[in-house]
Formats: sequence, structure tokens, C-alpha cells
Amino acid sequence: MPVSEQLVQDVVKEVISRLQMNPVRTGYRGVFEDMDTAIAAAEQAQQQVHVMSMDQREKIISIIRKKTKENAEFLAQTGVRETGMGNVGHKIIKHHLVAEKTPGTEDITTVAWSGDRGLTLVEMGPFGVIGAITPCTNPSETIICNTIGMLAGGNTVVFNPHPAAIETSLLAVNLLNEASLAAGGPDNIACSVVKPTMESSDVMMKHPKIGLLVATGGPGVVTAVLSSGKRGIGAGAGNPPVVVDETADIRKAAEDIVNGCTFDNNLPCIAEKEIVAVAAVADELLHYMVTEQGCYAAAPEEMERLAAVVLTPKGLNRKCVGKSAQQLLAMIDVKVPETMRCIVFEGAKEHPLISEELMMPILGLVRAQDFDDAVAQAVWLEHGNRHSAHIHSRNVVNITQYAKAIDTAILVKNAPSYAALGYGGEGYCTFTIASRTGEGLTSASSFTKRRRCVMSDSLCIR
Ligand code: NAD
Repeated sequence: MPVSEQLVQDVVKEVISRLQMNPVRTGYRGVFEDMDTAIAAAEQAQQQVHVMSMDQREKIISIIRKKTKENAEFLAQTGVRETGMGNVGHKIIKHHLVAEKTPGTEDITTVAWSGDRGLTLVEMGPFGVIGAITPCTNPSETIICNTIGMLAGGNTVVFNPHPAAIETSLLAVNLLNEASLAAGGPDNIACSVVKPTMESSDVMMKHPKIGLLVATGGPGVVTAVLSSGKRGIGAGAGNPPVVVDETADIRKAAEDIVNGCTFDNNLPCIAEKEIVAVAAVADELLHYMVTEQGCYAAAPEEMERLAAVVLTPKGLNRKCVGKSAQQLLAMIDVKVPETMRCIVFEGAKEHPLISEELMMPILGLVRAQDFDDAVAQAVWLEHGNRHSAHIHSRNVVNITQYAKAIDTAILVKNAPSYAALGYGGEGYCTFTIASRTGEGLTSASSFTKRRRCVMSDSLCIR
């Protein structure tokens, strides 16, 4: 029987796909069968990193940046294909942000006191091998961003990635080690396991060689890490409200809010998850969102059907997370063009599609009587995560009142939420925002220990 060209192509595609699913077989660097072996390999690499000059660390980081940019599209495509979440264009931007704006060794600074009794320095030293747990929402972005900062601080890292993003995560681990080798550094600066599980995570959390744990994910993993008995950095969930008051440029607010909310289909933990608008401008805001920003104003009956699909008795339906507005509406048999970017509706703050962190482009609007009421409702909706919040206002008194009341690690004013990641705003990028443990937007210095070095009665030459 003759074999068709199509059949050959399909078989080749399937074989490549299966090989990619088992990175150890294809010789990915830094990937091990079990967590103990991964930690031992990372420890060996750390011994070399520890004695490296800062310049050598920076050389590795510069090649990581270059390879991340070169592979941005491939990593983005793999992430979308594997997880079924987000969109390729925005994931490419996220990888470029990581490559260009994650701080390196310049973040490692020294404080000095010099005086009659000599010279004292406080220097930032490495923890050694760091154990990191990463999410499926920004898998390769988080792994590359974490590693740049951790390596700049003189550490190596072992990851227990989200199983739903294992292929994408291990590709990132491989890229990091290839970059190190290309710069004359050691293999295994970043390590992981073929099949991450709760058991491998447990081994990591209890391992005597792990001095610091970094968790990026939902409340479960942050609590697990903070209960481990080790030092932990907890970057947990948010539910960022965006407040709009009567002094805002309403047309621009509509544009910024929809741009922020729809970025990577609302996967970033910092993205606008609901609006609280003062009554005087609520209708105007909705008008611009619908007429100019590709928003679908859903009827109450449609929202009921959507709620039944998105929120199951077991909780958030993972099949809806990171989907586009078009895909979400198709789930309730509503057909809209691809240009429809976001689903909007009005509701009370207690509406489950408003009060829950959804991570999909559904944006509920809560009407507030006045600014004080808006602040109170937004604080309630943030649930004390102290993570992210946003505001559109030209009244600095209002902005200050809101900032103090909501007390979040991130507060973006008059811009889309992603300005907080250095995209359309000043400042560096991170995908690990540690609101619960207080580091805020983590960077290399977050992954170091402060050490005081005292020279008594000497080296002061004033
Ligand atoms: P998730 O909590 O399902 O998983 C995150 C990681 O934790 C995964 O590797 C998972 O395997 C692991 N995990 C979960 N429970 C665990 C436990 N009890 N013990 C050990 N490991 C455990 O989160 P996700 O769906 O991948 O990501 C989305 C969530 O993460 C959202 O809540 C989002 O807000 C949050 N997030 C926060 C940040 C931040 O910087 N603060 C960044 C990205 C995502």
C-alpha cells in the first residue's frame, strides 16, 4: 500500500511531539529523574558560581537574555500549545520583557560605613541552592526571570514547575544551561525533574541543602512554602480592582483597562480583574469600552450561563482560564468575532464572577456612590492579598487615599496594569511579585543574604 506524503508528515509530527514531551530522552540540560539528583547537580554548579567574578556571572546573564529573545516565539508557542492558555503575541512580549528588563548583577550592591573605628560593609551573598515552584500561567517567563536574579546573587536553582506546563518549563531550564555553557559557566545552574509532583516538591522543601524557597502561584503553594520551616518568599494570588473616579480621562481609562485586562488573556496576576467606577462616570466608561475597545456587553442571563461554566461546584474551571473572550462566549453558544476582546457586565461586588480571581477576560463593573464607597468596595474585592490595584484619576488626594487604604505591592495610576512590569512604565520586570512576604517585585537582591564585614580601626583613609 503506498504511503501518502500527508501520513509521513503526521507520523514525523507525532514523533517530534512525543520526544519533546520527554526531555530527558532528548538530552535536555539540567533535567533529572529525581529531585535529590537535581539538587546535588545544582549544588555542584553553585560551588563554581560562588567563586565566579561578578563579571563572569553577568556574561552568563547576557547570553541568557540573548537566547531568550531568540527563542521568545518558540517558547510562547510551546506555552500556548501545552497549557491551552494565553496568546502567542503577548507571550512573546513577556519573554522580551524578561530578557530586557530583569535586573542582573547591578542589583547586588554594598552598603558601607567608614569612620574613626574603621570600615564596615554590608554585602549581599548567596543562599546557595534555591528551591523554586513556578506556575502554569507564565511558566518559562518565571523560570528565566527567577534564574537571572538568583544567578546574579550567586545562587543556582532547582525548579518544581507546574505539571501542566512541564514541556515549556524544561525547555526554559535547558536554555538557561546552554547559555551558561556558551559563556564558559557550569552546566546545571538551573535544574528540574522530568515529572514534578507534590512528592518532589516535598523533597525540595525538606532538603537540607535548600536554604531559600520561592513560591510563585496560588494560595496553596504559598502556604505550603511558608509552613516549611525554611525561609520562604511567597508570591501568591491577587484579584486586582481598578477604580475609576470622575476626574479621570474616561475614554483613555476604557482603553487602558481593556488593554491591561486582555493582556495574555488576563493570565498575569497583576491584570485588572474588576472595575469599581463612581456612578457619575460608570455609563460613560462602559460606553467607550463597548463602542471603542471591543467589549461584549453580556446580558444578565448570559452571565448566569457563563458563571455556571466558569465556576463549577469544585471551583474555578481550569478549562476557562486564559481563554479568549470569543472562546469563552462560544462555551455558552454565543458567537462573536475574534475582534471581541473582553466580556463586560455590571454587578454587585459579591457576584462570583467579580469577587473571584478568574484569570480570563471577563470584567465586571461595580458601581460606587462616590469615591469613599469606591475605595471601600475595592479594598473588599482585593481580599487582603495586598497584591495589585489600579486607579484612573487625576486627583492626587484621591489617589493617595486609595493607595493607603488598599496597601498593595503594586498600584498603577492612569495606565494599563502591565506598566507595573516595565511595559509602558518605568522600572524593572519580574514575574514573581511577593506581596505576602513583603519583597514586592522580586529581583536579584531579594535572593541574597545580608552579611556584615567589619574591619576595625583600619581602612578609613579620610
Ligand atoms: P497553582 O497554585 O495552581 O500552581 C502554582 C505552583 O504551585 C505549581 O507548580 C503547582 O504544582 C504548585 N502547587 C500548588 N499547590 C501546592 C502545594 N500545596 N504544595 C506544593 N506545590 C503546590 O497556580 P497556577 O494556576 O499555576 O497560577 C495561577 C495562580 O498563581 C494565580 O492565583 C495567580 O494570581 C498566582 N500567581 C502569582 C504570581 C505573583 O507573582 N504573585 C505570579 C503568577 C501567578
